[in-house]
Amino acid sequence: MTRLLHRALKTPPMAVSAEGITFTDAGGKTYIDACGGAAVSCLGHGHPDVLAAIHRQADQVAYAHTGFFTTEAAEGLGERLVADAPEGISHAYLVSGGSEAVEAALKMARQYFAEKGETQRRHVIARRQSYHGNTLGALAVGGNEWRRAQFRPLLMEAHHIAPCYAYREQRQTESDAEYAVRAAGELEAKIEELGAENVIAFVAEPVVGATAGAVPPVADYFKRIREICDRNGILLILDEVMCGMGRTGTLHACEQEGIAPDLMTIAKGLGGGYQPIGAVLLNEKIHDAFAQGSGFFQHGHTYMGHPMAAAAALAVQEVIARDDLLANVRAMGAYLRERLEDAFGQHANVGDVRGRGLFQAIELVADRETKAPFDPAAKLNKHIKAQAMERGLMVYPMGGTIDGVHGDHVLLAPPFVVGREDVDTIVARLSDAVDAALAEVA
Ligand code: PLP
Repeated sequence: MTRLLHRALKTPPMAVSAEGITFTDAGGKTYIDACGGAAVSCLGHGHPDVLAAIHRQADQVAYAHTGFFTTEAAEGLGERLVADAPEGISHAYLVSGGSEAVEAALKMARQYFAEKGETQRRHVIARRQSYHGNTLGALAVGGNEWRRAQFRPLLMEAHHIAPCYAYREQRQTESDAEYAVRAAGELEAKIEELGAENVIAFVAEPVVGATAGAVPPVADYFKRIREICDRNGILLILDEVMCGMGRTGTLHACEQEGIAPDLMTIAKGLGGGYQPIGAVLLNEKIHDAFAQGSGFFQHGHTYMGHPMAAAAALAVQEVIARDDLLANVRAMGAYLRERLEDAFGQHANVGDVRGRGLFQAIELVADRETKAPFDPAAKLNKHIKAQAMERGLMVYPMGGTIDGVHGDHVLLAPPFVVGREDVDTIVARLSDAVDAALAEVA
């Protein structure tokens, strides 16, 4: 009997080894990791260079509280993150994961305005189709109603606008350009309603992950969002916890939108799962407001800047750059998309195939014409996951409700080292798993 409180209160298979893109369980069964857990394992498992870096760091300094010391590992990672960051980013703040990064970014944004005497600012605007983490601040800002509902009395106030979700929200008669204007216009309207002088920031994932399955924006949506934030004097926080650090084919997803944020959160692929780590990247004006104001950022965690986590993340990022793995993300991402289109493009129950780089998804529908979703009670996503695991395939299926519309998605986020044959096997197994799951819920 287990003494751990597992998700869904059920004990999953016991993983006994993991190497490259494959897990082996205690019964000797192998599984292809086609989702990197939750888009985490960007380098695959057991990479010798990362393990060596962790061992070296453990021998040197395993832990140092940041109130007393900095370390070469943490400084080196900070330097690397800023060198590769979007324009204007001047500093990195190291934490232990995505939710912590989002919490810290929200507080940095609020303190930035407080330092300038604008203490009346208290509103954060986000999008209905978004996931920003499970801690209370991040949960409040996230748009996933199902995750939030029972904790509502504990949550701070946050405001939500419509997502940029072309498959369901773009009108048939609307061009991408017109849709970008309309979707971004929601932000302007919300700022006006709240009063620009009362708003702190707008938070969004450039490519939406955990709520909706790899939903990219239409062209120019984020350019307009950036422009609206600037015109109204509010900060833009981009949450790249899931879609960042190379997952979409560029180091940061926002590079493909041609914009830079004021604050950016990263995690998952930063350390590739070798250690728990996340970070906030902040631009110079925020750093300067702290430096010229109170002289400190009023926040902190015991494990922030953890040297073993920093050493692992630095090694992960060095291997990605050394082996030019982003080129493989782009090539294999295009191939994965092609194979998904072949397998599901005409499928009666797949309404959309979408994504960027090695961040691809399918959206399942009961009816392709009307885009009617499956009955949430059927829990199609759970059936797909079970059928995939049965076939030795790890994928990330979700069911979510956005403005009352339920949808099932399967997200694929394989490690950056995936090859063509792996992609063929992943799509073949997924195709069988989806059909078997559909037969179960029919
Ligand atoms: N932000 C985004 C976009 C995420 O996808 C996630 C996790 O899935 C988080 C924040 C929270 O990260 P963590 O689970 O590391 O706390």
